[in-house]
Amino acid sequence: MSLEQLPSLRDSLAAAGLMAKKSFGQHFLLDLNVTRKIVRLADLAPGETVIEVGPGPGGLTRALLEAGLRVVAVEKDARFLPILGELAAASDGRLTVVEADALALDPAALPASAPIVANLPYNVATPLLVGWLTGPLRTRSMTLMFQKEVAERIAAAPGSKDYGRLSVLVQAVCEARAVMDLPARAFTPPPKVASAVVRLDPRPARPPDAVLAALQKVTAAAFGQRRKMLRSSLAALGGEALCARTGLDPTLRAEAVTVAQYLALARTLT
Ligand code: SAM
Repeated sequence: MSLEQLPSLRDSLAAAGLMAKKSFGQHFLLDLNVTRKIVRLADLAPGETVIEVGPGPGGLTRALLEAGLRVVAVEKDARFLPILGELAAASDGRLTVVEADALALDPAALPASAPIVANLPYNVATPLLVGWLTGPLRTRSMTLMFQKEVAERIAAAPGSKDYGRLSVLVQAVCEARAVMDLPARAFTPPPKVASAVVRLDPRPARPPDAVLAALQKVTAAAFGQRRKMLRSSLAALGGEALCARTGLDPTLRAEAVTVAQYLALARTLT
């Protein structure tokens, strides 16, 4: 059977008697027009290998395979393995399914620089992203679906209410752009909130691991007391002296400090 001859995603789910599990963050995209659009936003070339986390019934996986990509898909819920097996059989060996918890998976089991495209399970989306940013994977790009509120935090600029620890860490490593909004009704079952796709492109000069570790300490302290001035919120890390050595005004508050300034503080700390 070829990809075009596969039953619809709805029919595959019904035939397998599968219902979404809330505890696994399961909200499926069953409209191939939507998943094809996400794949276009990922802007990948046929023949490339891509990592997908949480293929579920395989809506996004189908669109990736249709685009001529090779897919390594990591799925925790074994109930989907038979449906994904049918998809693998219809795709000339271009789909490899890894049954695993992506949070616990050894990154060495994944192709190191492959792009990641995923409609992430919202309950673990942020820890997964932080792991990819700070761990050994050197992915070429990430095209990821998040709850809209998380997408806004990721792409937020200094001075906005959404700007925080996640914005600084992501933007220190990647250029971040929200590229597509999706209403809750686009998913089956619909979640309580809207969603958005974020495109993340790693910057050419990645900060060293020690600087990223220091960056997380600085932002935890600064945003932990976001209304206080840096000289107070960073007191445990050197406060006024740390700011002076970095050449930064100690009366600034967390949300006014740019990503470049946080990186400068982290470099001083290391
Ligand atoms: N990609 C499918 C789609 O777009 O229709 C499903 C997306 S659904 C939001 C999230 C998927 O991630 C589910 O298939 C769920 O079983 C899987 N999942 C949840 N937690 C996971 C984890 N820790 N590791 C790997 N997969 C996980």
